[in-house]
Amino acid sequence: MRWEHLGGDGSAALFDTDAVVTRTVDTPEFRGVTFHEVRARSILNRVPGASRMPFDWTVNPYRGCTHACVYCFARRTHSYLDLDTGRDFDSQIVVKTNAPQLLRRELASARWRGEHIAMGTNVDCYQRAEGRYRLMPGILTALRDFANPFSLLTKGTLILRDLDLLRSAAAVTEVGVAVSVGFTDEELWRTVEPGAPAPERRLDVVRALSGHGIGVGVLMAPVIPFLGDSPAQLRATVRAVAAAGATSVTPLTLHLRPGAREWFTAWLARHHPHLVRPYENLYADGPYAPTWYQRRITGQVHELAAEYGIGPARAGAARRLPPAAEPPPGPAREDQGVQLTLP
Ligand code: SF4
Repeated sequence: MRWEHLGGDGSAALFDTDAVVTRTVDTPEFRGVTFHEVRARSILNRVPGASRMPFDWTVNPYRGCTHACVYCFARRTHSYLDLDTGRDFDSQIVVKTNAPQLLRRELASARWRGEHIAMGTNVDCYQRAEGRYRLMPGILTALRDFANPFSLLTKGTLILRDLDLLRSAAAVTEVGVAVSVGFTDEELWRTVEPGAPAPERRLDVVRALSGHGIGVGVLMAPVIPFLGDSPAQLRATVRAVAAAGATSVTPLTLHLRPGAREWFTAWLARHHPHLVRPYENLYADGPYAPTWYQRRITGQVHELAAEYGIGPARAGAARRLPPAAEPPPGPAREDQGVQLTLP
């Protein structure tokens, strides 16, 4: 594997190459998964200036994601490690084991200005690996101790393990949490997000955090054309999101960038072959669905949200909630993998 030259721009390698430890864990939970434990050289990633994302800094303790969402836009980043963007992305997980210590050190630096840090914007930091490596408690503790504002986006129910830390952090700084629930259709979930907790379990997370005074927005992402975008499906999802107590619901239509597009299209051909041609037409101009389609979905969701008494993310919260974002083009440094994790 190519652990150096991740910068693609001559920047320093992200990992100490002689510090990679590869482990295959033979427990039912992780069967078929390989962990690559690395010692990262830095953990605060600056988002490239050209990015449209409303945050400048991210922390990503993992690469690859066992939630295995077929559409995951972060798949492309695995190719920079000479791993494939399909099955390898789901099962070859890079773990930055020194992430908590590094973060504490970098937050203490005189050069650090205490800016907002977004997490879960590349891959899910509460994926199953976190149950084994427990990096997030150290990360949250460091953020709390430095009263550094941050946001989290996740599909992982494991976030509830860190509820007390989130509460104590929220007492001293701005904390934003968003849960990704693009649809509530169980059959669709089983095939398109096979490793992620069920949508209803994610809504349980919204309920639990809300019940403990932590406001949670739902990123309704992705809305999947032809499979999860019927009026009835949109209504069922928004109704469930509202019932769970979310503070906001923000729709985001599926986008298919290189890496994700090939994997998603192969899945489509296996499960819904009659939709391959309609998808080719809908995404003929690139990774995004046409503007008219996006507007239609956004309008429908906003109407439903108003009907059920919730709204889109408030403007003032835009920096706290990982948003609909466009990944920057081209080969990438670590932080350039940052796009909205559809999740
Ligand atoms: S979309 Fe998010 S949860 Fe799904 S595989 Fe990608 S990083 Fe993981």
